[in-house]
Amino acid sequence: MAKLTFLGAAGCVTGSKYLVETAGSGAASKKLLVDCGLFQGANELKERNFKPLPVDPKTIDYAVLTHAHLDHTGWLPVLARDGYRGPIFANPATMELTEILLKDSAHLQEEDAERAKRKKYNHHEEARALYEPEDVDPVLKLLKPMPRSGGFDISPEFHVESFDAGHILGSSSLELAIREGAKKTVVVFSGDIGRYGQPILKEPTTPPSKADVLICESTYGDREHEDGDPEGLLAQIVNRVVKRGGSIVIPAFAIGRTQTFMYYLRRLEDQQRIPRIAVYVDSPMALSATDLYIKHKEDHDLEFAREESSDGKGDPLNVHEFHLTRTAEESKAINKVKTPCIIISASGMVSGGRVLHHLALRLPDAKNAIILAGFQAEGTRGRALREGAKTLNLFGETVPVCAEIVEMGQFSAHAGKSELLRWLSGLPTPPKQTYLTHGEPVAAQALQAAIRQKFAWKAAVARYLDTVSLGA
Ligand SMILES: [Zn+2]
Repeated sequence: MAKLTFLGAAGCVTGSKYLVETAGSGAASKKLLVDCGLFQGANELKERNFKPLPVDPKTIDYAVLTHAHLDHTGWLPVLARDGYRGPIFANPATMELTEILLKDSAHLQEEDAERAKRKKYNHHEEARALYEPEDVDPVLKLLKPMPRSGGFDISPEFHVESFDAGHILGSSSLELAIREGAKKTVVVFSGDIGRYGQPILKEPTTPPSKADVLICESTYGDREHEDGDPEGLLAQIVNRVVKRGGSIVIPAFAIGRTQTFMYYLRRLEDQQRIPRIAVYVDSPMALSATDLYIKHKEDHDLEFAREESSDGKGDPLNVHEFHLTRTAEESKAINKVKTPCIIISASGMVSGGRVLHHLALRLPDAKNAIILAGFQAEGTRGRALREGAKTLNLFGETVPVCAEIVEMGQFSAHAGKSELLRWLSGLPTPPKQTYLTHGEPVAAQALQAAIRQKFAWKAAVARYLDTVSLGA
């Protein structure tokens, strides 16, 4: 009987890795890895990235990706370095995004490790980079395309079908059919579920699967996002900060939220609801990512497709005064900008990356504002800011937090609690078992309670390294 092991995203929101194994021993058992993410956030989690998997990567036959975010792909270079040689299936948009994300990840890790060594402020043993740029190429050679929708045979044992997840470009929920002789077991992996009614991407679609087992994310299982029109709120913040002569820093990854912000800022400028001010997208990969958002039309919702074509000017992801910075020197030069501007820079959880130096400069000034739009994991500086920290530790120094901190859950790329329940209600039959992953314990438990109450399904919170049977 097939089984599944939770190698990550169990009890936390990062490190997504699910190992599916068919029955049998040795080579007779086929192994498929669904996602291969990096642990991010608290040091205790990050240390897991340096530990070998409990299964030898050489013995894993196949891998498949739900989407390109690093907490779903960022450990692939280690997997390949440790001996994995099988194909890594992903749709074309995910393949292209994964390439830019992994290259960027390798650079950021090197930069962070270098900085830690130089400044010696990190007492943490692992000041070495988890992997380097040359570890990324072997992964790219293993990436193989699979269709954006419809069914696809990975092997005689594994068949997958993808459904739009509406989370980032290329994001999918996967229906996995496992064949063992005459027996067929259906497992649905939600991947990360996006929000309904968001711009640019298509809506999340629940797989119409009679699932034996469901693996469902629970990032916001205990919370709803703030109500309100994101566009109007963003206009208010921009106008307020510009009026007092301040600047706005938005910690955000170059993929997904950056495009959503650009989309709304462009619309607000065109409608003359905000002044045209300089927007710095401080990320070497933002331009490539934005190009991919434009290129992969199969992901676009109807309104976005209309905006691209209707007025002929169609550049809905580009603000009028757009500055892209690629090099570290260009990034540092933004520090000299005194007039109101908007700086969008990674990482989204302020755990590393260039946003650190922007915050070190702009946090102490009450005229400025910081917009927190994404999920802020436990132990990250983003979480500390969200919870009202008065100071932040940056580059080994204590920086006072005087800037206005604005949380804008409306810009989240993750479904809130009721949206998760809406997605779940789309399944045609109750899964025989549901495991909740990709959520901090409180969130996963809250969703478990809500599922029991609303649907009376069996639901359990996944535990790290637990192996469960997929048999009915
Ligand atoms: Zn994601």
